[in-house]
Amino acid sequence: MTSIATLGSHCSLQVLKGAKDEGLKTILVCEKKRERLYKRFPFIDELIIVDKFKEVIDEKCQSVLEQNDAVLIPHGTLIAQMSSEEIESIKTPIFGNKWILRWESDREMKEKLMREANLPVPKPVTDPKDIEKLSIVKRQGAAGGKGYFMVANQDDYNTKRNQLISEGIISKDETLYIQEYAAGVLAYLQFFYSPLKEELEFFGVDQRHESDIEGLARIPSEQQLKNNKVPSFNVIGNSPLLLRESLLDDVYTMGENFVEAAKRVVPPGMNGPFCIEGVYDENAKFTSFEFSARIVAGTNIYMDGSPYYSLLFNENMSMGKRIAREVKTAQESNQLDKITT
Ligand code: AMP
Repeated sequence: MTSIATLGSHCSLQVLKGAKDEGLKTILVCEKKRERLYKRFPFIDELIIVDKFKEVIDEKCQSVLEQNDAVLIPHGTLIAQMSSEEIESIKTPIFGNKWILRWESDREMKEKLMREANLPVPKPVTDPKDIEKLSIVKRQGAAGGKGYFMVANQDDYNTKRNQLISEGIISKDETLYIQEYAAGVLAYLQFFYSPLKEELEFFGVDQRHESDIEGLARIPSEQQLKNNKVPSFNVIGNSPLLLRESLLDDVYTMGENFVEAAKRVVPPGMNGPFCIEGVYDENAKFTSFEFSARIVAGTNIYMDGSPYYSLLFNENMSMGKRIAREVKTAQESNQLDKITT
């Protein structure tokens, strides 16, 4: 019988609770320091204790996963803490497409796939001297917005970059990625593509709360001007958002375009959960600055089921449960190779 495994962080509680509800065995790869935390949750059947998550590639960990016929659910922590090569070397079957995770981590590849999918992306700025409009400077990988900063021109870029280097927040040989800042209402659109049904499902929307950019917006401009700390975009938590119903048709089109592009560019394509992240401007036009090619932590807000999934499934369905349902269906019909890599 297949079991579901994941790393103890990010959305592991949701993923394992969903798996348990679907009757699957649950395994958590857990750092020693978090053992006490995760032992509180009765739906976790087995803990594999490690010092560092990277040990998931080690023979010891892999063999426990193999004995349990585990499918590993990748999430942001896996991407943040391991290189693409390391992730690709994992022998345990990974839910979805492990090859597309590289496209999420590498900024240039990311931009290429987004263009291929026809997503409206903010203009990239290849050289700091070309910064003309308010722009945002980002780091590689799933850094969670930490160390990001906003700049108005080249001087501003140099000053802030140097300040962050001297504070030890970014390193001086780090390649930074600059793109124009898109202002509007933040919306992180969460989807699931089922290769078994060959169908795209829209799951829900969340907003991220980021410190300290959000804290800065809560103080009067007079104090903002006196503050010379470079504000970061470190994600602290998420809250739900419901879109105007008239926007849904475009949301599905964007998701479908992304799935089609991923099939062409990085086979077997965008299987399983993913997220398209961006902002709606004053004309309700969406600009997308990011995608995540796996479950996002923003789905945690719908642990009891998302509103859109209640419409589709007639039952409470979280993203964790949806993943487990797909694994179960694939197992029953001997198609596990269709949903894992
Ligand atoms: P990311 O790592 O690209 O998801 O970015 C982290 C956060 O930075 C996002 O959640 C947004 O708040 C902000 N952000 C990133 N890119 C842009 C952009 N081009 N325009 C506006 N905000 C952005």
